[in-house]
Parts: sequence; structure tokens; C-alpha cells
Amino acid sequence: MNRVIEKYRASGLKLTPQRLAILKHLEGNKDHPSAEEIFRSVQKQFRTMSFATVYNTLELLVSRGDLAELSIDAAKKRFDPDSRPHHHLICKRCSSIVDIFQDFDIELPKTLKSEFRVFGHHIEFYGLCPRCSGNQQAGNH
Ligand SMILES: [Zn+2]
Ligand SMILES: [Zn+2]
Repeated sequence: MNRVIEKYRASGLKLTPQRLAILKHLEGNKDHPSAEEIFRSVQKQFRTMSFATVYNTLELLVSRGDLAELSIDAAKKRFDPDSRPHHHLICKRCSSIVDIFQDFDIELPKTLKSEFRVFGHHIEFYGLCPRCSGNQQAGNH
């Protein structure tokens, strides 16, 4: 956690106790939580925490590039503190999101590639997680 504080302090982010609680909740979080989920969790620590504070902090972190906003879940925005480039797999039933750290060989048509400055790409996979498909044993072999 100290490393996180140092990182944000060094980059000039004003660290209020509320913001720290939000950053602490996000650090290493693999659940891709929504703003509501983050709010519910940090509110347990900070009874006075407002949803606006959580939302504004998330927006600030997204604008700084410290947090990615995912649109893979049609029901709500989800947030990802892992800034390494990666792809996602979502369960259509329980909406759990899994990270995929793998490079896929995808090429744009040459004409588009020369006209458009492309910074990256993000691939979304859809399906059912082992729990939802009743296939929980499959991973054990
Ligand atoms: Zn599922
Ligand atoms: Zn992710």
C-alpha cells in the first residue's frame, strides 16, 4: 500500500483519507468492480463517504490513465486498476470478468492502418464461467 501512496503522491494527486480508501480498495482488485460496488465497500469504512466522492475519484483516476473504464458489461460501467494492456472474458450469466494476458495476432486492413493512428486494441470474449456452466471440474485435469 505504501508503494501505491508514493506513486500517487509523486504524480501530484491530492490524497484525502477518502481517496486513499478508494485507492486501497482498487489496489490489486481483480473483480473489475462497478462504481456502486466500490462505493458499498468503502462506505463500510467511511460512513460519511458519498457516492459522488467515489464517482468523481474514479473519473479523475480514469482521466489520469490510472484506471481503465470497461464497457464490456452492458448493465454498468466496470473499472480495472490493472493498467497493463490486456483483454477480457465476461460471463453472460453472473457478469464475472476474467483478465486475459495474451497477445492476439490481429491486423487492420492496410488502408485503415495508414490513415488511422491506432494506440491499441481490446478484445472482449463472451461465454459462461465454469460455475455458471456447471463445468467446475473441467479445470482440474
Ligand atoms: Zn458466471
Ligand atoms: Zn482487466
